[in-house]
Amino acid sequence: MQKLQNYINGELTEPIGKQYIDNYDPSTGKVYSLLPDSDERDVQLAVEAAKAAFPSWSVTPKDQRAAVLLRISSLIDKSLERLAKAESKDNGKPVSLARTVDIPRAAANFHFYATGILHFASEAHAMEEEAINYTLRNPVGVAGCISPWNLPLYLFSWKIAPALAAGNCVVAKPSEITPMTAFLLSELCIEAGLPKGVLNIVHGYGHKVGSAITAHPEIPLISFTGGTKTGAEIARVAAPMFKKLSLELGGKNPNLIFADCNYENMLRTTMNSSFANQGQICLCGSRIMVERSIYEKFKTDFVAKASKMSVGNPADDKTKMGAVVSEQHMEKILACIELAKSEGGKVLCGGNRVYLDGENKGGYFIAPTVIEGLPYNCRTNQEEIFGPVVTIMPFDTEAEALMMANASTYGLASILWTENLTRAHRLAGKLHTGIVWINCWLLRDLRTPFGGVKGSGVGREGGFEAFDFFTEPKNVCIKL
Ligand code: NDP
Repeated sequence: MQKLQNYINGELTEPIGKQYIDNYDPSTGKVYSLLPDSDERDVQLAVEAAKAAFPSWSVTPKDQRAAVLLRISSLIDKSLERLAKAESKDNGKPVSLARTVDIPRAAANFHFYATGILHFASEAHAMEEEAINYTLRNPVGVAGCISPWNLPLYLFSWKIAPALAAGNCVVAKPSEITPMTAFLLSELCIEAGLPKGVLNIVHGYGHKVGSAITAHPEIPLISFTGGTKTGAEIARVAAPMFKKLSLELGGKNPNLIFADCNYENMLRTTMNSSFANQGQICLCGSRIMVERSIYEKFKTDFVAKASKMSVGNPADDKTKMGAVVSEQHMEKILACIELAKSEGGKVLCGGNRVYLDGENKGGYFIAPTVIEGLPYNCRTNQEEIFGPVVTIMPFDTEAEALMMANASTYGLASILWTENLTRAHRLAGKLHTGIVWINCWLLRDLRTPFGGVKGSGVGREGGFEAFDFFTEPKNVCIKL
């Protein structure tokens, strides 16, 4: 059975404790590889390697840093098929999704930040004839990057690429549930000639490796994407150490559908924003609110489409809906559906585990699920489910829709469907989320600020915001 390795100081290494964790294929329920069960000793080695590499990497001219990152980007492109298959097997997502979204986006992240750093500039503030200030922006040192399992290589590279481009060295931990493409990335980094110690990847559990990174006194900056509860724990440990923190956390995003929308576009995109990646995208619109005059029509059409969406083997090119990521996560989603029923929700389609034949017999599949009849403030409409489960609710007025949309402890993204320009702008200003998509979903320009408010996080990534985060500003004031 394949044994994945850590990537420390430029080499693929065994964990010091020589312990390994089973890695499951969610589409079969079987163990297919092993990953290092690292601990704080491995993190310590990674930090030492990163510290040793920092003096040289941080002063390597930007164009040379960019050149290495561009080589990594092009190696990801060249390995598209291999990486897409690996991501699909590790995570359960359809290979077609990994091929068109996850892996191309990982390559794009490296490309974008490799070239972005060449255009990153700092500010100067003149005080008429008295003085001039200029801002230096230096890399911070060793950055800790911790990422989740839902978009494994995509989100891993979203952190690592800007951190490295800005001149930091990195100690990174992918989710222990989906370690494979991070391991394959370490091989590509070696092939690309990334200097040793610049990037270190330590595999293992969050409570061992993740918390050792968070608590390490020589890691002054943490970029974390994951659940809100874990984010709170990281903040609790990191805040008294005055670490720089970027927290991209959970969501319970509203999808507001007005009667004057472009109906066909809305319906097609709402299928995607509800069920893409089995609903395991932090940006999915899981609370669907529909203007009452089109509620019944929407319900009929949407449920018909969701019922027809077949769940299948993720490795099959035609599959649109694969497995959820783990048995534990599947049980959590099924428990959420039971909770919805006990709260008075009516399951219009799905609501059950799906058993496939053959090699996928033991896989973790759930049918696309649509639930109605629940109030906006019940637990089902307040707590993140992170699976192929959405609720639908009617509303009568714009004010009511806005109230329900904002009645959440989360504030990551909202989706709005209307052809009324004035309404679109009015609501965009009032929705309490970090991102508003109008008549689209998941349309991403990497230059834009990405992140949430309230329980969805602190700070922004994307574009120059990421470089601001991964550098420390220093003002220099010269008296003239
Ligand atoms: P978790 O919070 O469980 O885990 C995220 C990462 O943190 C994993 O690598 C995990 O390791 C690690 N970790 C766990 N405990 C600790 C700890 N005490 N200290 C440091 N690190 C720790 O999230 P999931 O992996 O379950 O991902 C799903 C969540 O991520 C959802 O809530 C989703 O909304 C959110 N998300 C947010 C996004 C955003 O941009 N806002 C984007 C994508 C997802 P291990 O795997 O071993 O537990």
